[in-house]
Amino acid sequence: MSDHAPVLPHIIAGQKHLGSKAARRLNINPGTGERISSVPLDDVEAAEKAVQAASAAFPAWARTPVGDRIQPLFRYKAILEHHIDELAEIIVEEHGKTTAEAIGSVRRGIDCIEHACGAPILMMGRTLPQIAVSSSFCRTQDEGGVGIDSSVDRLPIGVCVGITPFNFPMMVPLWMWPMAVACGNTFVLKPSERDPMSTIRAIELAHEAGFPEGVLNLVHGGPDVVNHLVKHDDVRAVSFVGSTGAGKYIYETGCAHDKRVQCMCGAKNFSIIMPDANREAAIDGVFGSAFGNTGQRCLAGSVVVAVGDAADWLIPGLVERTKGMIVGRGCDKNTQMGPLQDDAAKDRVLNYIDAGVKAGADILVDGREFSMPSAGCFVGPTIFDNCTSDMSIVSEEIFGPVLSIMRASTLDAAVAEVNKSDYGNMSVIFTDSGNAAHRFETTVQAGMLGINVGVPAPMAAFPFAGWKKSFYGDLHTNGEDGVRFFTKSRVTVRRWI
Ligand code: NAD
Repeated sequence: MSDHAPVLPHIIAGQKHLGSKAARRLNINPGTGERISSVPLDDVEAAEKAVQAASAAFPAWARTPVGDRIQPLFRYKAILEHHIDELAEIIVEEHGKTTAEAIGSVRRGIDCIEHACGAPILMMGRTLPQIAVSSSFCRTQDEGGVGIDSSVDRLPIGVCVGITPFNFPMMVPLWMWPMAVACGNTFVLKPSERDPMSTIRAIELAHEAGFPEGVLNLVHGGPDVVNHLVKHDDVRAVSFVGSTGAGKYIYETGCAHDKRVQCMCGAKNFSIIMPDANREAAIDGVFGSAFGNTGQRCLAGSVVVAVGDAADWLIPGLVERTKGMIVGRGCDKNTQMGPLQDDAAKDRVLNYIDAGVKAGADILVDGREFSMPSAGCFVGPTIFDNCTSDMSIVSEEIFGPVLSIMRASTLDAAVAEVNKSDYGNMSVIFTDSGNAAHRFETTVQAGMLGINVGVPAPMAAFPFAGWKKSFYGDLHTNGEDGVRFFTKSRVTVRRWI
């Protein structure tokens, strides 16, 4: 196998740059093991150029009327619709998702562009006329005084930075930059160093849609580059999506350098299955959310708490469905689950499976022995039963296709298990009882909830983020929170004498 793979370019002020520094990460196609790209890791000079380009572009872009700023986004949506298969193919090659998952992820990204096209309404301010009367300046007795009005406007904040994870290389950047630029900011994106080819293509296509030079820039790198961006005097806001360790560090560092920061972080999502749940919907929901995207989702439903005798029908149904799964390369038509994204991810998941066995959980489906291709980063779907909250397969984020099942005698006992988790991204209940659903909603600790749906992703018009160690910051991504994150408010009090 050759050591050579194409070096991926930064995109700064609308131009591709190969950069200067030597340290690079070699990436493979996780379905085959072939080397496909080489990504610059420590090109701080390029990061500096990207911030300078974004700073230079900011004043004119912020002055551009919002109705004009969204025109490239309308064109971009149409361009992405046209290139959806091409983008999906790149995602499958570098990430390993199935083609259907890759297409779905591009579609969810397009949702965010559509939402950002609403910026003229979304960033509109509010006015309250006649909040007071100043009688000392009245011209005649009849006028009764001069009215005072007050309003609040939402304004762009400046250069914004996005730091994104490997698991949705095309979609997650679209949570950030379309809304940021629609609101009048300029942007520097630092995609994951593990699979940035679809991100590069997406930013190239954005330039075809007509964004002016410097409004949108992309720079590759690891911690050195991230540190440069997060500490930079010209950067006003940092939006991060990734693991809890990196997110906590970026939150603390960004805040210490006077930035506005939001960090959407790691997760361990629990699904509570009540005995009265619709069986088919519950099995389907748990199966899809545990193994979709090979478990590499912040919304992976990786723990199930079966209440009462729900386990009697849930477990056989899940095991049968899981054993019949087709694991293979994402580009093969029949594949239901693709590989993990790289060798390190594969090793990490295998270590967790070993830890689960050692801790005494019962392994019902063993992903180490699944029928799957020998080359590439494959681990089959795995199900453990009789798990407890002290086991690492329950308490830690595995980020792979491993489902841990716990048992509880009542709903309250199940919610108590969920609330022991350090994470609080999303939690789900399957039940036919409105009373049980209401008790769940009012007692469970998570930033997003699902009722009779398998760990669903909220659409772009709603805020997206968790609680506890799944999130650091105040304003979530997407929805109304996204608009507020990428704008600052200004209040004016007016009197015309
Ligand atoms: P990661 O934390 O390893 O990397 C994310 C980004 O942070 C990358 O761009 C990376 O270069 C950078 N980074 C990593 N370590 C850093 C450090 N020490 N200093 C500075 N920068 C650093 O995450 P990942 O493995 O790419 O993605 C998987 C994680 O992302 C999972 O924990 C998953 O739950 C989380 N995630 C969360 C959400 C959410 O909305 N909460 C969505 C998607 C993924």
